[in-house]
Amino acid sequence: MTRRQAACLADALAIGYRVLGQGGPAVMAVEVTIRFLEQSGLFNAGRGSNRQLDGVQRMDASLMEGAHLRAGAVASIEGILHPIVAARLVMEKTDHVLLVGPCAARFARHFKLERHRPSGPSRRLPYGGILADLKRTGDRHGTVGAVALDQAGSVGAGASTGGIDSMLPGRVGDTPLIGCGVYADNRSGAVSMTGLGEGIIRLAIAKSICDRLVRGRSPLAAAKSVLRRLVERIGGAAGALVIAPDGRFGIVHVTPRMAAGWWNGTGKPVVQGRWP
Ligand code: ASP
Repeated sequence: MTRRQAACLADALAIGYRVLGQGGPAVMAVEVTIRFLEQSGLFNAGRGSNRQLDGVQRMDASLMEGAHLRAGAVASIEGILHPIVAARLVMEKTDHVLLVGPCAARFARHFKLERHRPSGPSRRLPYGGILADLKRTGDRHGTVGAVALDQAGSVGAGASTGGIDSMLPGRVGDTPLIGCGVYADNRSGAVSMTGLGEGIIRLAIAKSICDRLVRGRSPLAAAKSVLRRLVERIGGAAGALVIAPDGRFGIVHVTPRMAAGWWNGTGKPVVQGRWP
């Protein structure tokens, strides 16, 4: 994590906490935190999103609140600076959970969401180069996510990503899939995932962690046991942000690093590149 990224993460935590401090809902704190990270261009989300192998940025995002289990998500959306806002609008303005592709972008434009045109030359690889490239570089992460607990005792979770390195056009990861990349339920807790989506999807990690919370495991223990299973069963790589309705939380990763932080309003936000 660079210094700029660490500072940006601390600012994002402060902005999100301000919502909670004013009595606002957890899901709103999650959204403003992610929005700030999306616009920074410093992470693999929003402005800084990876491109797929045809040179196009296609982004995924989702948001969920734990009181009524409302959720919204977009997948493979193009040309929008804040996919997390589009996800919130799906949750609030429609009876659906997930919109995809050009139709998701049209939906976002209908609500006049800020547009984004990636700058710089786009990479275009011949199709024959794709598989070699996937194996070589498919392990860089940098998705943004957040979980929060508000004063009313509700939890919220969200995530936003430009996907992984060297993805085939049309690839969608775990981030917009409720129960895989995010989950939030006031009866268990909230989870936001980062890491290689292909593994996270196959073990429905976010919901699996919540299921362990319901059975009384701590956030740390629940995340550790599910991520251990991810590694043992399929050799996956991921990190989890987990918060329980009683305020206990865990930041757990089975990747070498995971830039993450937390803040409860006292002292300064804690930001680290690794978590024990
Ligand atoms: N989970 C994201 C995906 O697979 C990537 C990441 O977390 O960096 O699309």
